[in-house]
Amino acid sequence: MKKDYYEILGVDRSASKEEIKRAYKRLARKYHPDVSSDPHAEEKFKEVSEAYAVLSDDEKRRLYDTYGHEGVDSRYTREDIFRNVNFDDIFRDIFGDTDSIFKDFFRFGFGKDFFRRTEKGRDINVELRIELEDVAHGAKKAITYTRIKKCEFCNGTGAESPEDFKTCDLCKGTGEVKEVKRMGFSQYVRIMPCPKCGGRGKIIAKKCRYCKGTGKIREKETVEVEIPKGIRDGVSLRYKGMGDYEGSYGDLYITIRVNPHSLFEREGNDIIYRAEISFPEAVLGTKIRVPTLYGTEVIKIPPGTQYNDTIKLRGKGLPKMNSFGKGDQIVRVVIKTPEKVSKEEKELYRRLFEISSSKHY
Ligand SMILES: [Zn+2]
Ligand SMILES: [Zn+2]
Repeated sequence: MKKDYYEILGVDRSASKEEIKRAYKRLARKYHPDVSSDPHAEEKFKEVSEAYAVLSDDEKRRLYDTYGHEGVDSRYTREDIFRNVNFDDIFRDIFGDTDSIFKDFFRFGFGKDFFRRTEKGRDINVELRIELEDVAHGAKKAITYTRIKKCEFCNGTGAESPEDFKTCDLCKGTGEVKEVKRMGFSQYVRIMPCPKCGGRGKIIAKKCRYCKGTGKIREKETVEVEIPKGIRDGVSLRYKGMGDYEGSYGDLYITIRVNPHSLFEREGNDIIYRAEISFPEAVLGTKIRVPTLYGTEVIKIPPGTQYNDTIKLRGKGLPKMNSFGKGDQIVRVVIKTPEKVSKEEKELYRRLFEISSSKHY
């Protein structure tokens, strides 16, 4: 069982970003493997760092708050969890800029395996605004965004041609370097990936002319989005492999936002429509035309209709997603009091007033 991130950091679920950062700093100072004598320091350090990585990121925290560990773990790999977290800053704050001792702390704190990562590009999140009509009928929309793609000219190697590599002179092709660090009276030897070749043992002799040796190119991308009928506001659609490239492709998440409608309100699969009628119409009953998402309907207002009475139009609501059938349209009757009346109307209202007010006595 994984422990609760808030518990690990000892903060409330409502803790602010600042409080979370403070709590993490305190615990990191206590458990950093370079300074702690606790035999479980490394383990605890990893634990608090992971909790911080998740809770300091809005999106990851939201996922964790909503779905718990599973929400985060199903969407992010371990590497993704730590990506984009600025630990450097924090450690400079804690330990001061001590000759970049802590610059590589991660490699130390998390072991070599952590850095032999299966590289994967970033996921991209974009928003797509649609109309209620699109929810009712389904729709196809094209969305254009920018992403980092693999350079096809060099196949992502960054070299002009496959022969344009040479053995790394720093690690002599082993991909690893040793580093000796001193902390007080102790001395540590760390084996870490070669910083010059990134652990590959080879460096590029002649860079690819298109990507300038990065193996990646930023490009505009367009995807066709099929809007499923009945989709709810805030739902994300996942497009596998349409994210950024970094060794392999991340995913694209398109979050659907449904614009407010000028006539209708949505309540689940039902549509609420407010129909205004006059007082005599409410008293005597009438027929009115009401708009729906599927054309105009004529409905009967029975005599004696009260303010807020509802009339249900079965099957005129939104399609149910992943199921059959549709919701209903609920017509809510609003009786409008006239602000201006003609002389004749006024006479009639006065007459009505006289008749009905006498009932109060
Ligand atoms: Zn090297
Ligand atoms: Zn290239």
